[in-house]
Amino acid sequence: MHHFQYRGDELYCEDVPVRRIAEEAGTPCYIYSKATLCHHFRVFDSAFKDVPHLTCYSVKANSNIAVLKLFNSLGGGVDIVSGGELFRARKAGIPAEKIVYSGVGKTVDEIDFALNENILMFNIESTDELEQINRRATAKGVKAKIALRVNPDIDPNTHPYISTGMNKNKFGIAIDTALKAYEQARALSNIEILGVDCHIGSQLTEVTPFVDALKRLRTLIGKLRKIGVAIRFLDLGGGLGIVYDQESPPQPREYADAILRELVDIDCTLIFEPGRVIVGNAGILAVKVLYTKRTQTKNFVITDGGMNDLVRPSLYGSYHYIQTVMKSQRNTEIVDVVGPICESGDFLARDRGMPLPTAGEYLAVMSAGAYGFTMSSNYNSRPRAPEVLVNGSEYHLIRRRETWEDLVAPESLPPYLNEACAR
Ligand SMILES: *Cc1c(COP(=O)(O)O)cnc(C)c1O
Repeated sequence: MHHFQYRGDELYCEDVPVRRIAEEAGTPCYIYSKATLCHHFRVFDSAFKDVPHLTCYSVKANSNIAVLKLFNSLGGGVDIVSGGELFRARKAGIPAEKIVYSGVGKTVDEIDFALNENILMFNIESTDELEQINRRATAKGVKAKIALRVNPDIDPNTHPYISTGMNKNKFGIAIDTALKAYEQARALSNIEILGVDCHIGSQLTEVTPFVDALKRLRTLIGKLRKIGVAIRFLDLGGGLGIVYDQESPPQPREYADAILRELVDIDCTLIFEPGRVIVGNAGILAVKVLYTKRTQTKNFVITDGGMNDLVRPSLYGSYHYIQTVMKSQRNTEIVDVVGPICESGDFLARDRGMPLPTAGEYLAVMSAGAYGFTMSSNYNSRPRAPEVLVNGSEYHLIRRRETWEDLVAPESLPPYLNEACAR
């Protein structure tokens, strides 16, 4: 369900024509629907309303502070993976006691920042990191609240780059050694164990891997309690998939039912870290067709949006549905929708059947709300696109388009070049 629908021949985001935003804000431009964001958050969160839980939205999917603030207003916390995300979360007013911090490579500065903020817990990914966090907490005279991120060795059947819960992945502590790691944690003076965590991957389209992982964690929690380690939180990560093309991922309700069936009497507050399922279908990337080009083997549609704006097709071979902003009566042809970047890997769609668009026409790259803007870059010295949040019949710019001056602002010349340039 999302609020990007045609009215007559024209694509709308809620009550605003996408064309109007594209004309006023320029393209490429990310457009998010507030109603869709809220709906998805509520559907997910309310699926667990009968049990103690905290929905910690995964910031890296879409980290605009307006988006974070919106979820905060709905009662959500956040899952962060860097100091920068912690900074954003605090800017957006997310209470520290609703912040969990994952990631395999937390630096000393990032750990110190999170200790100063007194976040709910660190999800620790190695015993080395455990020792480091204990050292930093000791130096500050505080206790670090932690869960160990356990790698349950479950195949999530998703793209290899976004599967995280198998032994060959860099994430978490192998479940076979987790008991020992907890004993090590218990012996550390400035560590307070709160829970158990896992996150097995992203864009999962079936519940079975979640349930299999959960069974292993439940067994671990039983063993931990037996040796006197109190476990109050069980963090099950994120990963629920969305429809990009022909997938049929479980609805949050089915996901919740499958999980809660396994967790009767677990006596833990559940934490979830959904990202994509909340924001993915709540955003589009609007682009403009610059040129079309027929070669002997291909029809190219060249747009002003490229892999620096939306890298998922280039990076993972991901599918994004693309439609014209004004409904088109032209015949369907097979086209490559490509960007202006100087790489043959720069495409938004390959061998796609669609009405051949003409120069000046706007296209909507659908389901671009997750891992869209956040993965964008300045490659080819392209200013990053603006972000717009639609609310009913109005919209607001929640991030302006970068300027060419923004591109060079952090750069500086060594003195010897400075002189040469001044001459
Ligand atoms: C990326 C990530 C998530 C969110 O994953 P989605 O597939 O977007 O739900 C949750 N937890 C951790 C630790 C992550 O790295």
